[in-house]
Amino acid sequence: MTQHPKGTALITGASTGIGAIYAERLAHRGYDLVLVARNRERLNSLASRLTTQTRQNVEVVAADLADAADLAEVERKLREDASISVLVNNAGVGTHTSLLQSDIERMAEMITLNITALTRLTYAAIPGFVARQRGAVINISSIVSLAPELLNGVYGGSKAYVTAFSQSLHKELADTGIQVQAVLPGATATDFWEKGGLPVEHLDPGIVMSAQDLVDGALQDFDDQVLISIPSMHDLQPFERYEASRQALSSQLSSNRLAPRYHAN
Ligand code: NAP
Repeated sequence: MTQHPKGTALITGASTGIGAIYAERLAHRGYDLVLVARNRERLNSLASRLTTQTRQNVEVVAADLADAADLAEVERKLREDASISVLVNNAGVGTHTSLLQSDIERMAEMITLNITALTRLTYAAIPGFVARQRGAVINISSIVSLAPELLNGVYGGSKAYVTAFSQSLHKELADTGIQVQAVLPGATATDFWEKGGLPVEHLDPGIVMSAQDLVDGALQDFDDQVLISIPSMHDLQPFERYEASRQALSSQLSSNRLAPRYHAN
């Protein structure tokens, strides 16, 4: 079997929204695709459209990534299919409800999908990428990873995990040639909002970006090897100052002596 030079991109949550746009853009860039989500019908229709438009191979895997057995199948695919060169960890759910209005079972499911599935899929993909000396992981985080007070705390916390995990992976894989990117979308016009209980029409249109613009910006950053991509942020200087200050903290956080501001007993 001949292997396409770009390899294959496995995209989770590819049936709609941001993931479906990644699928379209990556197919047009010459990647074969593995599309993962629960809705097989939507995946099949996207697959047949993209095959017709681009002549790339598009495989569909209907899987619920919050289900351990389904997740294990996708992990197996990532471990065994050596053509996979890009993993886009995009599947995720959110909500704006407060702690007191939220059902703990829904919050736990959110953690399973947004954190556990993303982590397990990354662990399944990376060893093969390192062995083959090529590969990339794109993790879809959120601007709420920097501003957890904006929406539900479990959602913000789950995305803070995605950003921190990506930063750590980037450092750990620095000498391997494996690229890691965290994408931090602001409000984006997808079904995400309706599913989370707040239709996107209720937001100020001035803060809502199209999924197409979001993905195009993030892919331009990907080409430029940008680790943290925030396509909706116009002036990046405050973020760069924040990031420099955060990194400078790391050498000051541990000590064998109590800080002088504490009173000695
Ligand atoms: P979306 O339109 O609701 O799409 C979510 C995708 O995830 C769908 O393809 C859905 O497909 C899939 N999915 C959901 N639960 C799944 C499960 N248990 N197993 C497998 N697939 C599952 O939302 P989106 O806006 O494109 O969201 C994509 C990512 O962007 C998420 O991680 C989200 O947190 C992040 N994000 C979105 C925004 C925004 O404003 N929209 C902002 C910041 C970050 P099925 O239903 O077919 O499974």
